[in-house]
Amino acid sequence: MSRKVLRIAGDGIGAEIMAEAIKSLDVVNERFQLGLTYDDALMGGAAIDATGVPLPDETLEKARAADAILFGAIGGPKWDQLDRAIRPEKGLLKLRSELDLFGNLRPAILYPQLADASSLKPEVVAGLDILIVRELTGGIYFGEPRGIRTLENGEREGFNTDRYRESEIRRIGRQAFELAQRRNRKLCSVDKANVLDVTVLWREVMDELAKEYPDVELSHMYVDNAAMQLVRAPKQFDVIVTGNLFGDILSDEAAMLTGSIGMLPSASLNSKGQGMYEPCHGSAPDIAGQGKANPLAMLLSAAMMLRYSLDAAPAADAIEAAIGKVLDQGLRTPDIYTDGTRLVTTAEMGDAVAEALRGS
Ligand code: NAD
Repeated sequence: MSRKVLRIAGDGIGAEIMAEAIKSLDVVNERFQLGLTYDDALMGGAAIDATGVPLPDETLEKARAADAILFGAIGGPKWDQLDRAIRPEKGLLKLRSELDLFGNLRPAILYPQLADASSLKPEVVAGLDILIVRELTGGIYFGEPRGIRTLENGEREGFNTDRYRESEIRRIGRQAFELAQRRNRKLCSVDKANVLDVTVLWREVMDELAKEYPDVELSHMYVDNAAMQLVRAPKQFDVIVTGNLFGDILSDEAAMLTGSIGMLPSASLNSKGQGMYEPCHGSAPDIAGQGKANPLAMLLSAAMMLRYSLDAAPAADAIEAAIGKVLDQGLRTPDIYTDGTRLVTTAEMGDAVAEALRGS
């Protein structure tokens, strides 16, 4: 079996952290006989420099043909003055919409070794492992009509429309139920069904779907309560599914429970299981080329890719366990460094994870 991975390193620290992820992927590829093959493509600033556009046709074709895309980060001051239409981030948005990547997966995992990095008490967050599934291509961010109009009395009024079709709710719901089946089989659907009609439908469709997934325990929570529960007792959750607007806010809230941006992976999936996997952080131009970037978010993104698009959960588990081992040994890049731990470079961290994998 061959599994085709498209690598898009991007800009800034993208190439540095990609190189570290590949070291570990090479180890699991051999050990688990995964048949991974790689191709490379340009996107963002690097693509603008080489071709004049942030998402060249060649990259899009390669992305369509791949089983999964592993992506670093794009952007930087060099391209900030360009016309909005050809800025680096346009490439990323276009790729997401061309591949119809409607499900955004944002895990919030806090390794117990890093519990001090969270702003919450260690006992509240140590060992946290939750997954937020956010609908990414519908809802109020895209709903029409929208705009700012002038009323008859001369006052201006701004308006947006929160819309979800049944089919859109059903496909993100299915994705979330199936993800919950691979975890602890608990799914919490977050809505505001006491006020918003669109989420009354959301709740109805989730209840209908629950009949098809009797092994998953479905619960519902209003978004205001969910925001509160995430900081009060986040470990009560396993998988959370919600719409675009609520997901945007809750996933950032959950991410910060874990303290460091250098530890956060993400995935965007379509209905074929094809996905793009990337760290939540940007291209960090302030530290690019200095060996200071934490490669662990990229490594955790690679692990998600193995689990969710490449049907290789044991290899994903092995990478995550190796990261735990290296953190146990006290190795830390500057962003997660505390007194008494050992400061290492990007490459030293990547080497240590690959080494721990070889030894496991
Ligand atoms: P950023 O995430 O790149 O950096 C924010 C801060 O976090 C910086 O101090 C940076 O050094 C630090 N940081 C980020 N990743 C780190 C890592 N792996 N290890 C250690 N420290 C890390 O956000 P920004 O500074 O707002 O944006 C920089 C550029 O990245 C901009 O051009 C922005 O448009 C782009 N960006 C790209 C993406 C993406 O490609 N998905 C996402 C966000 C921002």
